[in-house]
Amino acid sequence: MIKLFRFLKPYGIPISSIVILVFFQALSSLYLPTLMSDIVDSGIINGDINYITATGGLMLLVALAGSICAITASLLSSQVAMGFGRMIRSAIFDRVSSFSLHEFDKFGTPSLVTRCTNDITQIQNVMMFAMRMVILSPLMCIGAIIMAISKDKHLAWVIIAVVPVLSGAILILARKGFPLYQVIQAKLDKINLVVRETLIGIRVIRAFNRIENEKKRFQLANLDLTETAIRVNQIMALMMPVMMLLMNFTTLAVIWFGGINIERGFTNIGNMMAFLQYAMQIMFAIMMATMMFIMIPRAQAAAVRVNEVLATDPEIVDPEYTKPFENKKGYLKFTNVTFHYHGAEEPALKNVSFEACPGEVTAIIGSTGSGKSTLINLIPRFYDVNSGKIEINGVDVREMTQETLRSKIGLVPQKAVLFSGTISENIRYGKEDSTDAEVQHAAEIAQATEFISDMKDGFASLISEGGTNVSGGQKQRLSIARALVGKPEIYVFDDSFSALDFKTDAKLRAALKKETADSTLIIVGQRVATIMDADRIIVLDEGKITGIGTHKELYQTCEVYREIVASQLSEEEIA
Ligand code: ADP
Ligand code: MG
Repeated sequence: MIKLFRFLKPYGIPISSIVILVFFQALSSLYLPTLMSDIVDSGIINGDINYITATGGLMLLVALAGSICAITASLLSSQVAMGFGRMIRSAIFDRVSSFSLHEFDKFGTPSLVTRCTNDITQIQNVMMFAMRMVILSPLMCIGAIIMAISKDKHLAWVIIAVVPVLSGAILILARKGFPLYQVIQAKLDKINLVVRETLIGIRVIRAFNRIENEKKRFQLANLDLTETAIRVNQIMALMMPVMMLLMNFTTLAVIWFGGINIERGFTNIGNMMAFLQYAMQIMFAIMMATMMFIMIPRAQAAAVRVNEVLATDPEIVDPEYTKPFENKKGYLKFTNVTFHYHGAEEPALKNVSFEACPGEVTAIIGSTGSGKSTLINLIPRFYDVNSGKIEINGVDVREMTQETLRSKIGLVPQKAVLFSGTISENIRYGKEDSTDAEVQHAAEIAQATEFISDMKDGFASLISEGGTNVSGGQKQRLSIARALVGKPEIYVFDDSFSALDFKTDAKLRAALKKETADSTLIIVGQRVATIMDADRIIVLDEGKITGIGTHKELYQTCEVYREIVASQLSEEEIA
């Protein structure tokens, strides 16, 4: 928590102003009972109307000033707390944006989402409450004890008796209740999970007739949450009656014994009334303090989670000095690249070396899990290599900024991702200032024009969140168009033709060949037909290159390649 306090200075509101306001709020609360006892003991008893009005007026003023201080302090503290939340949120967002995929793997996306929203809200809420209470409750407690004793020493034992009972009762209830709040949080997560899975997987659930199962699963999670919530509320519902009981007993004791003392002439009625109010203030302050002792650890748990994200330094950072490019365009070279995923036993890529040049098509083929996507992800530096190097135009990818590097690459990922917005907005994602003609041209090459013009609003048609209103193949074609519109030096297609029918696949590749004649093409493919006329085919097997060459060469020399071909093509196609 302490580590997060560096975010605690937004809007130029000094924290000291809140401290001062709270201090005056406490002073006014502590002064009021004394004024009241003066009115009773000096004013009413002597029948001095002037004294009563003057002191009554003063009381009003003090109360007004106290309220203004209290309102301003709570206004400022909520502003500070909200600003604090805002600053942490944007710090987390910035940090997460600079994470490499390794860090995403480490936290997991859902956890990052909770840390960025729910956890910060928790801290923020506790902050808002605690900022005032941390100062107010000890001030009030000590102040009221001093004032109470100065009013009537003979009744001091009432306070000494009630304080431990009160704190004990609250502590026991809170100890039992608050952990359950965390349990509720976890159960809420569980409900979220079930709902999300059911909604996302609704087609599969229906197809396999599992609706009843899902309903049961949800009911179970729902019941679980309800039961815990009821238990918490049962415990917390005791809090109020216990408090009231203790307060009433205190009142009773003060009036009873105070009455005896008045009768004996030790004290006055006003003093006793003031004492009573101070006793209430003490109890209230203790209640607040106890609540805080319980709330702060809860915020602490959230703070730890938030801090973990902030303390994670992104693995991939821009170099301090960038190296100038050699006079080349679109040259890609892997030299002895070995790469490990964190926590994996075996390297995902071992000693991979190859070159790709402009005007050429380099294809990568291999069974699933052979490391094709891994190899592709290293080019835009989503991960850094463990040894060896990857060069573009003669410069190591670690010696240029990530922005320069990525502007040279047009990536079509294995899983096509579209954003909510229109089709043309999605294509323009590849190059913000592209003209309508450029967008249309890219769509044309990606063989997307036909289905786009079939849609109601053509290029202005809306893609829904997650791209659910277009088919897998349509998604792939749009993400190909998005890469094409930027006219990068190097195109990288990670299994981007897998959802296309053979005819569209062939047409797309023919159009692509013309369009990208001066660029470097890296194509990952599963189908031999997709990659067999590439200038260079790389065969990957368990992270190692087992063959590089043309279709003809590989068919003669590479066993793995021959097996792949044999499994897909008929005899005459091979010949
Ligand atoms: P391909 O694209 O050829 O099907 P990948 O490159 O996706 O294969 O995966 C290669 C190997 O690396 C697989 O064994 C896979 O389990 C592993 N792998 C892929 N992504 C990760 C990751 N984020 N963390 C750990 N291991 C991974
Ligand atoms: Mg893959």
